[in-house]
Amino acid sequence: MTKQRLLFVGPPGAGKGTQAQQLALRHNLLHLSTGDLLRAEVSAATELGLEAAAVMARGELVSDALVLAIVRSRLEQQSASLSRGEPGPSGWLLDGFPRNLAQAEALEALLSDLDQPIDLVVLMELDDDLLMQRLLSRGRADDNAEVIRHRLEVYRQQTAPLIAYYRQRQLLQAVDAEGSIEAIAERIERLLA
Ligand code: AMP
Repeated sequence: MTKQRLLFVGPPGAGKGTQAQQLALRHNLLHLSTGDLLRAEVSAATELGLEAAAVMARGELVSDALVLAIVRSRLEQQSASLSRGEPGPSGWLLDGFPRNLAQAEALEALLSDLDQPIDLVVLMELDDDLLMQRLLSRGRADDNAEVIRHRLEVYRQQTAPLIAYYRQRQLLQAVDAEGSIEAIAERIERLLA
């Protein structure tokens, strides 16, 4: 596979997590989901988790500095391990990050330092009705109707501008996120060849 540094962007409920996890397994990529990493901090009741929990429960974005610190340390760790010649994935897949333009710009600076440009941004697209259905059936703590509506609003206002940002850089490819997990995975695979 030539493309091995990937971002997954899309509204909550589009299936980013499922697809990202499976793709990372198939291609031996480091999978970084800021949502998963934050939930792990919340469960472990770390200082960082305690700071993030209330914001996450409201469906808002935790601070850029906090998520950036998480992503930076993981990517720097991987890069250092690679340059020491240690075994492990050479590529990565970021899922749920960046979530706004400030994070995208910070990521660009970080990746330029690491000399690891993004190969592809996958945009997963799905109608609001289907997003709502999927989220309501998932039953996560922040998946009740009111919080979901707010998360969709936050997506539209803060995250959706990334579409133009990455399209302008000719990195963006959209995928129809309606259908079976396998069908969607095939659509994504076709973009990586
Ligand atoms: P997710 O699992 O990606 O839907 O994320 C769940 C929640 O974690 C979001 O609603 C945010 O509160 C928080 N979160 C995850 N990723 C980010 C990010 N890149 N920036 C800010 N907050 C985030």
